[in-house]
Amino acid sequence: MKKLQIAIVGAGPAGLAAALYLKRSNNHVTLFERFESASPAGSGLILQPTGLTVLDDLGLFQAIQGLGRRIDRLYGADALSGRTVLDVRYSALKGGRYGIAVHRAALFCVLYDAVLSEGIDIQTNVDVVSLEVGAGSAWLVTDAGRRVGAFDLVVDASGSRSKIKKFAHKSCEPKPLTYGAYWASLKWHSNGFDEFSLQQRYRKAGIMIGVLPIGKASVAGVNSAAFFWSTKPDEEAKLRNAGIAQWKDNVLSLWPECSVYLDQIGGFDDMTLARYGHHTLPFPIGRHLSVIGDAAHSTSPQLGQGANMALLDAKALDHALRTSSDIASALSVYASSRRGHIRAFQALSRAFTPFYQSDSKILPFIRDRLVPAISGIPPAPQLLASMVSGTLTDPFEPIGLREKIWI
Ligand SMILES: Cc1cc2nc3c(=O)[nH]c(=O)nc-3n(C[C@H](O)[C@H](O)[C@H](O)COP(=O)(O)OP(=O)(O)OC[C@H]3O[C@@H](n4cnc5c(N)ncnc54)[C@H](O)[C@@H]3O)c2cc1C
Repeated sequence: MKKLQIAIVGAGPAGLAAALYLKRSNNHVTLFERFESASPAGSGLILQPTGLTVLDDLGLFQAIQGLGRRIDRLYGADALSGRTVLDVRYSALKGGRYGIAVHRAALFCVLYDAVLSEGIDIQTNVDVVSLEVGAGSAWLVTDAGRRVGAFDLVVDASGSRSKIKKFAHKSCEPKPLTYGAYWASLKWHSNGFDEFSLQQRYRKAGIMIGVLPIGKASVAGVNSAAFFWSTKPDEEAKLRNAGIAQWKDNVLSLWPECSVYLDQIGGFDDMTLARYGHHTLPFPIGRHLSVIGDAAHSTSPQLGQGANMALLDAKALDHALRTSSDIASALSVYASSRRGHIRAFQALSRAFTPFYQSDSKILPFIRDRLVPAISGIPPAPQLLASMVSGTLTDPFEPIGLREKIWI
């Protein structure tokens, strides 16, 4: 194909990775971001072997490894009985896989710096609210009523609340999930916490507390942990009215070692309340439009795949454009190359989330008995490890990628 004029909406992991791939494929790329200065939102996340393979393909693995924290195990126990209710080790799979937990700022900066050094045009303070699509091109419409274009292709990477994903075929909106979580990035203290594991404590499925070592936000930064507390956003006022002291007493009664983190939280405003929604676009494409990342599929972070799937989407789109003769067929190739993997993980996330975050009494009852009984018996450890790695179905081959060699 000729050199394409491409607009990317959103400077999150999906948009930044797509900008790098598409620019390196010799297209003219402009990145639009609604915030005045592009910056990361939220606390920390785990980059799985899938997302790490994409970062490696982009030449950014060493940079992310230098900032993040290697994760070998995901471990959770019932807060009162101490019974193990989650135990996943990457080492259950051959090949030496692991995850890397990162501060969101670290992932953002590594991608953003690469985008800057490629000389990609970034236009901030542009809130894209609509699209106009003509015979051979598309235009962005901003909240100020400005029409920007024309573009051969618009890439919607503006997250789950995208205002332009409605231009995709049979679009849909995220359905809010009952549970979200308070998150904070705090100074790391070992205090009995393993620096190579995500650790969680549960009480039924209504309470979940987590500590994830995430390394540094920047080279000069301090080692941090993401601390999270599962909660219903609808009950935020009730929680706040009861006061921070009561909430801290509750956490300490369930997991006393968390005192080193609670000491760093002065009030609820020191944490961010994340709300989760679930949606999957059946066709993440429209005329001159491709939808990638959370705009195309969002879910609860229970399986920790969102940012990783966003990175895979970016690679898939570039691969489809490189290997197709026109934009319309490239968009079909993009959608079909990601369909199986996305549907599998969206379905798994929908199925597993209520075992760990819901008002159900029966699901955590089953979890607390089933997981300890089966988690050591093959093939359960391997299945769980490939679910967490994002490789239960092969995401690499359909998008022209080979998994990174780990050792
Ligand atoms: C608390 C929490 C924990 C998570 N943990 C994990 C984890 O462990 N592992 C994992 O893989 N994923 C995790 N996720 C999911 C992950 O954060 C998302 O899947 C990922 O950020 C999606 O990237 P994205 O680029 O598609 O969207 P986003 O990160 O949402 O970025 C969208 C960008 O678009 C911009 N934008 C939005 N609207 C407009 C507009 N109208 N015009 C212009 N710009 C716009 C936004 O400002 C933003 O910069 C977690 C999510 C949450 C909330």
